[in-house]
Amino acid sequence: MKKEGEKKMGMKSDVQLIKDGKRIDGRNFDELRPLKIEAGVLHRADGSCYLEWGGNKVIAAVYGPRECFPRHEQDPLKARLTYRYNMAPFSVEDRKRPGPDRRSIEISKVSRQALERVVFLEYFPRTSIDVFVEILQADAGTRIAGITAASVALADAGIPMRGLVAGCAAGKVDDTVVLDLGKEEDNYGQADMPVAMLAGTDEVVLMQMDGDFSKEEFDQAFELIRKGIKQVYEEQKRALKEKYEKGIEGDINDQ
Ligand code: ADP
Repeated sequence: MKKEGEKKMGMKSDVQLIKDGKRIDGRNFDELRPLKIEAGVLHRADGSCYLEWGGNKVIAAVYGPRECFPRHEQDPLKARLTYRYNMAPFSVEDRKRPGPDRRSIEISKVSRQALERVVFLEYFPRTSIDVFVEILQADAGTRIAGITAASVALADAGIPMRGLVAGCAAGKVDDTVVLDLGKEEDNYGQADMPVAMLAGTDEVVLMQMDGDFSKEEFDQAFELIRKGIKQVYEEQKRALKEKYEKGIEGDINDQ
């Protein structure tokens, strides 16, 4: 979301975002911001994940499959999946008004639709699987950080899925296509395209776009995203393995 005085995506701004072949935060064009994922951080949820990506800090919690309320929303053929994306009031520079707004409703909807494509909902008729994503600190790319964390939390909850969903964005700054926009790049860049895929495949489950790309720029951005998503997927798998290796050690020690 743009603050007053910031330019609209699509126009070139006066702010110089690339200097001597490097981006404003020193990254290369194809470099992700530092990413760290931890699975199973909340003991009261069935599955959970904490994720830091650049300046983003995100918690995802999953409950279910559990009884679906209200009853009239039960589906006799499959589980209902809900997804709530929420930004904490303290997650942005100026306090954000608490509660849902148009942006968070939209992000919740597209993220839910993306996950519905991969979760085996038909295994759990009449139940509900509820995903909560809390953005504790926002620094551009939170919808992708959210869905990446949510997917790890679903796996941590043991929910059967076709695979993990991993995401990454690419955009255009100073007429150059770059991977994973940072905050200034998001504010003053010309395009931003968040994408989520069924990791390890070419299946896109979420794609949005702010600003514009030429056909060549789109192809270039998509290629960068594919490479970025591979790295994100590796970190997701590492986090899940770490949690379960720890869990097994813990169980042995408990005996
Ligand atoms: P995404 O976080 O998925 O990139 P947007 O492009 O809508 O989604 O938002 C870009 C960034 O703008 C966010 O990550 C956050 O840092 C900031 N932002 C979003 N909403 C607000 C808000 N209500 N107040 C202040 N900053 C916001």
